[in-house]
Amino acid sequence: MILTKIVATMGPAVASVETLYGLFQAGVDVCRLNFSHGSLEDHLLMLRQIREAAARWDQPIAILGDLGGPKIRLGKVADEMGTGGMPIHVGDELLIQREQMLGANKRVSTTLSHFVDDVNVGDRVLIEDGMLRFVCTAKTFAELRCTCTVGGILKSAKGINLPNSIVNVPSITDRDWECVQWAIENDLDYLALSFVRKAEDLQLLRQHLTNKASDIHLIAKIEKPEALKEIDAIIDSCDGLMVARGDLGVEMDVAQVPIIQKDLVRRCQTAGKPVIVATQMLQSMIEQPSPTRAEVSDVANAIFDGADAVMLSGETSVGKFPLGVVHTMAHVAEVTEEYLGSLPHKEPTLKLKTMSLSSALARGVWQMVQDLKVTLVVIWSQTGATARIFSKMRFPVPLLALSSDHRALRRMALHYGVLPLEMAPPDGMAELVEAVDQVLRDNGYASVGSRVLIVAGSSLGTPSTMNGVVVHTVGETWKNATQAGLPPVDGALQLS
Ligand code: ATP
Ligand code: MG
Ligand code: MG
Repeated sequence: MILTKIVATMGPAVASVETLYGLFQAGVDVCRLNFSHGSLEDHLLMLRQIREAAARWDQPIAILGDLGGPKIRLGKVADEMGTGGMPIHVGDELLIQREQMLGANKRVSTTLSHFVDDVNVGDRVLIEDGMLRFVCTAKTFAELRCTCTVGGILKSAKGINLPNSIVNVPSITDRDWECVQWAIENDLDYLALSFVRKAEDLQLLRQHLTNKASDIHLIAKIEKPEALKEIDAIIDSCDGLMVARGDLGVEMDVAQVPIIQKDLVRRCQTAGKPVIVATQMLQSMIEQPSPTRAEVSDVANAIFDGADAVMLSGETSVGKFPLGVVHTMAHVAEVTEEYLGSLPHKEPTLKLKTMSLSSALARGVWQMVQDLKVTLVVIWSQTGATARIFSKMRFPVPLLALSSDHRALRRMALHYGVLPLEMAPPDGMAELVEAVDQVLRDNGYASVGSRVLIVAGSSLGTPSTMNGVVVHTVGETWKNATQAGLPPVDGALQLS
């Protein structure tokens, strides 16, 4: 079992129940539906397939809907000469017209109706995370004339960045609201908001969800320089971050991206929130069966930094080796985690303004894991909040998190090291220890005689009955031990 979580973007390359089941076996925990591509009908088909495959799989799978946000995209582009789009070379002229059309013969349109108004002569037009580059040289009411400075193949719906232009677009577009409604109706677990600029962007969406009685959790995609200016308020307002390196690397100096990645991961660590590192992690595997050395290092380094999850985009959605790429990512994670486990453990920092009891418990348990030979930590976490905080302690052993709430269990699929497991709420600590012992032996999570820590917060059974940690030896159930006249557990620590 690997502790790092894998997020895979859905798309035509994985659109079958069989393939999805294979992805779960290979290590995928979270499926990302990118609303920037495909219709809601397409996503519904995909969703049904994910749910069918997930029902067969024995661990909860989370579904994350990614709202496109105010991103400008190319319109449809015809496939010229089997290239998958329109080839364009340095020095070529490209016309970007106001009227929507099927792009061909060095002429395209975009999804933004006032694109031609907002771009001025001299402005740069960057396409597909800056892979293709143009400068605007002339404009009329109908079209922009642009010269290509870096060529490539222009493909349908690729994103456009305008680093020099001032574009007036709302943070959450009409299309986003439509997708939000769809996400609520279809009971998605997470919604990611693109191009977050300020905490209010998230608060607006949160208020809407609350009004609709939805508890979908929010991920803030960090890809704008403005967001970095008030990053702590943004972290406070979301349930997790995504380091969206694609747009970030275009909106800012690309050399800043690794530094920002480390900074964001560290901030999420102290805030007790999950963080996903995304974009181009194994990009070359869209076409090739094996990764570059740089890509392997990138995945490993994200894990060293402390990311909860690493993400695949085009690699799984449209790549040639969706299964192979997940195997590669999982293998890199496995080897990296093994190495991390062999290093002297440094206590992670956790500075929580709220949930101070959970973080104190988490730190105490972290110390016990270091001092005692423990193979597993088990926690009762009905809403998943305690699991989220415990996850941030990056225990070198798996964290089995129990709840009876299906939504909470699915959301836990994103947290580093957390193994979510459904259980009926036990009546107090003794019953919990019995039930856990049974589950560990039945599922082979721990062998008889091995030592585990069982943690129960105030949400166990009747609220505020106890917060406790039990050191338990598998096979010695509370009841049997007491009958045999032995001390019930190795040691029980009761906190008020
Ligand atoms: P974002 O900025 O949200 O990451 P993106 O355009 O970069 O958007 P990714 O999800 O990162 O999209 O995927 C990379 C590429 O894979 C896309 O540009 C697109 O060409 C392709 N792709 C992704 N999802 C789909 C899909 N559902 N259907 C078709 N193509 C897709
Ligand atoms: Mg992308
Ligand atoms: Mg993006």
